[in-house]
Amino acid sequence: MPPGILRSVMSFDPENYRKDFPILGRVIHGDRPLVYLDNAASTQRPRQVLESIVDTYENHYANVHRGIHQLAQDADDRYEAAREKVRAFLGAAALEEIIFTSGTTGGINLVARCWGDANLREGDEILLTEMEHHSNLVPWQQLAARTGAVLRHIPLTDDGRLQLDALEELLGKKTKIVAFAAVSNVLGTIAPAKEIIRRAHEVGAVALVDGAQSVPHQKTDVAELDCDFLALSGHKMLGPTGIGVLYGKRELLAAMPPFLGGGSMIKEVHLDHFSPGELPGKFEAGTPPIVPAIALGAAIDYLAGVGLEAIQRHERQLTIRAHEVLGRVAGVRIWGPAPERKAGIVSFTMDRIHAHDVAQLLDRQGIAVRAGHHCAMPLHARFGVSATVRASFYFYNTLEEVEKLGEALEQLKDVFRPRKKVAK
Ligand code: PLP
Repeated sequence: MPPGILRSVMSFDPENYRKDFPILGRVIHGDRPLVYLDNAASTQRPRQVLESIVDTYENHYANVHRGIHQLAQDADDRYEAAREKVRAFLGAAALEEIIFTSGTTGGINLVARCWGDANLREGDEILLTEMEHHSNLVPWQQLAARTGAVLRHIPLTDDGRLQLDALEELLGKKTKIVAFAAVSNVLGTIAPAKEIIRRAHEVGAVALVDGAQSVPHQKTDVAELDCDFLALSGHKMLGPTGIGVLYGKRELLAAMPPFLGGGSMIKEVHLDHFSPGELPGKFEAGTPPIVPAIALGAAIDYLAGVGLEAIQRHERQLTIRAHEVLGRVAGVRIWGPAPERKAGIVSFTMDRIHAHDVAQLLDRQGIAVRAGHHCAMPLHARFGVSATVRASFYFYNTLEEVEKLGEALEQLKDVFRPRKKVAK
């Protein structure tokens, strides 16, 4: 490892950041310090993001894109400054390519409705993968039902990697869109996004990246990826709930009809017809999530300060340690690829103990994990399990917290150990 990299790995100290997150100081069930390992569901927010919310409401709040008074101008400036922060963060070419949505689900539904309805016909194919979140399955199933398009899926290997050799057979002239998660929210699998996008373009298909689990944790550059669409959720990257982003190439967005109808998305309205407005307003009907968008800008400032490369490296260390620690607990099975091939998401099952019981008993130790199908029922069906326990990390997690998870699982295993019958 070059000395520079070694120094930065050694020097990353989550404690430098934890002090900014008031909630991480919480104590659970009386005396258990919170160990928050449910970041794939939603991350926590630093003071800077919380202060942005209060500051906007206290000092700069008005509706946007309407008023001519000073406060309206303030709110406008901040809302559009947040769009610029997102643009720069994602490496997009133009502000018109950044649409504020309610989240990843909102973004994917927008594309399925507006791009999908306009471009898909009976017999066309939509290519997804077996590891998708329901948000990247159901909108396409609905689109297929509306249009008669056919759904196909890139299969997974038994260790949870995408079988790219299947693309040879799956991609063809009928493929119109390839939509996939850059990182699986269950297995942590990192998809070879650039290659999938290149292969999609080779057959003339467009490519949508579900960036919900990748954008918060690794550097994302939409120009380098050359993706046509990318959706993300603010609440998974230190921002508030209710805000997300859809990136789309300008020419594609410009050709799409609007999604929701209402105020702000129009040029002219008559009693019996309307003409749509310009990008990005065309896709932001009604009063947008003004304060959450501004706070997302604050979250991006914070993330830029920490550094995406440093975040990814630290999470890799946590994941490697989690595999070591969990691998020592008898009866634990980790699902998904080796740590080198995955992001900071470790899903596992335990022999004879249901995932919900594991999560509940961990909670008694103050450890917050997620249990269930994590909105990926087909993925769980692929591996023949109905539920897994998921520990998911962010840059504020520590190696000690990962050790605590291992210790708690050891104890839990003992609680469930079958007792020998004592002869009476
Ligand atoms: N896609 C992936 C991979 C996810 O992990 C999630 C949320 O967990 C979503 C989509 C949906 O995100 P949201 O509920 O914020 O719209």
